[in-house]
Amino acid sequence: MPKDQDYVAKLERAITQKYGEEAINNPRRFWSEDKEKEYLQQSIEERQKFAKLSDTEDKVEQDGFLINKKLLNRDHNRTCPVCEKYSFHPRDDLYMNKFEACFGCYIQWIEDREERWATGWRPNKEN
Ligand SMILES: [Zn+2]
Repeated sequence: MPKDQDYVAKLERAITQKYGEEAINNPRRFWSEDKEKEYLQQSIEERQKFAKLSDTEDKVEQDGFLINKKLLNRDHNRTCPVCEKYSFHPRDDLYMNKFEACFGCYIQWIEDREERWATGWRPNKEN
């Protein structure tokens, strides 16, 4: 048996052991290792998404899908109400949730003056 045929036979045996007969019979269903990793990663992320969704009580219907209200709100909160900056940065997200302002506004207006902020003071208001 030529060397590469031997290799193919070994490979097929290994594939069969790992994935079952079907993988050999349907080679198009057999993926590269990278694709497999990618797929596994995706399904993990998918599961985490659904786990998060099922965590929450509040769901609203939008475009025929049930959507977690919190996620919707989070999206709406991507525009900073203070400077109107639109941001996808997770750090801004964090400050937006806590202070209703992006990170830049936090540094500029809130840091060390959190009480003033909590009382409702805003830089665009006269007081
Ligand atoms: Zn801002």
